[in-house]
Amino acid sequence: MSPDATPEDVARVVARVEGVGGEAFVSTGVVRTIIGLVGDIDSFHHLNLRTLPGVADVHRISDPYKLVSRQHHPDRSTVWVGPAGHQVPIGPGTFTLIAGPCAVETAEQTIETARMARSAGATILRGGAFKPRTSPYAFQGLGVAGLRILSSAREATGLPIVTEVVDARDVPVVAEHADMLQIGTRNMANFGLLQAVGEAGKPVLFKRGMTATIEEWLMAAEYIAQRGNLDVVLCERGIRTFEPATRNTLDISAVPVVQAASHLPVIVDPSHAAGRRDLVVPLSRAAIAVGADGVIVDVHPDPETALCDGPQALRGVELRELARAVRRLPPMVGRADAAGQVRA
Ligand code: PEP
Ligand code: MN
Repeated sequence: MSPDATPEDVARVVARVEGVGGEAFVSTGVVRTIIGLVGDIDSFHHLNLRTLPGVADVHRISDPYKLVSRQHHPDRSTVWVGPAGHQVPIGPGTFTLIAGPCAVETAEQTIETARMARSAGATILRGGAFKPRTSPYAFQGLGVAGLRILSSAREATGLPIVTEVVDARDVPVVAEHADMLQIGTRNMANFGLLQAVGEAGKPVLFKRGMTATIEEWLMAAEYIAQRGNLDVVLCERGIRTFEPATRNTLDISAVPVVQAASHLPVIVDPSHAAGRRDLVVPLSRAAIAVGADGVIVDVHPDPETALCDGPQALRGVELRELARAVRRLPPMVGRADAAGQVRA
């Protein structure tokens, strides 16, 4: 309350709070009175307490994202990805490598990349069939034909598939083929799309918006959770800053910050963060060291011919270096290889 609030002002606030079934605890100080509210926060919103006479300010102490918050769910969650009988974990205690092409271009390129990914120890195959490109003139992906290629790559390698969905109208067809639905940075705040994937019954890989704060990201994740889907994996993929040396700036501190705030798994995309092949392995090491639950990386058998994001795609040689890091470093931070944890 403001210093000049009257006893009537205090009593009015208490009466309003109690009127919606809440409790109000009044602490009277020398200069100010503080009123602590306990109860259903949504019902307090409708009271418009800030507008009442004598009220100086209103601060929320509990997280505004209830379902994804760690406040009421202290144990960190594991999300299982893949068909029944072959599910791989993403979560605490394991480290998951997701690898594959930025975009599905041809069946040969996709299956060859899937084999490279599997021999590097990847447990999930990535690949875009619907591509959210900054330019409408850039390759937009093969669409449903790309989804079919991904399905055949799963058949050939046994790897579950994560692929992006960019439009709520495509959710059913993408969910039919994919084991996990990806929401990209450009759609983080596309709330209609988030609600649609929340209802699709498949785990979601949810990237941070390139200009989103962590709170905005978690509030957006709450849209998915609210539709009954708590199988959400958060992905830090770099944010836009003033620094042009890298495509984005990998906000590595977001990983432990989000793990403290939310029970959801958190992985890192060093490929889209850096935009440069030479930085992908070093940033993956950083992701492991900081405690990320996995990484997702772009791979291409011949990046010079890639239709999308060739400069950041790992070739065989860098992928083998990444595979060594992913084998050796996670045990040093108490993580087991996700490949050894498949759930039958
Ligand atoms: C991608 O992973 O293919 C992609 C488009 O990433 P982002 O949404 O992070 O740019
Ligand atoms: Mn890309």
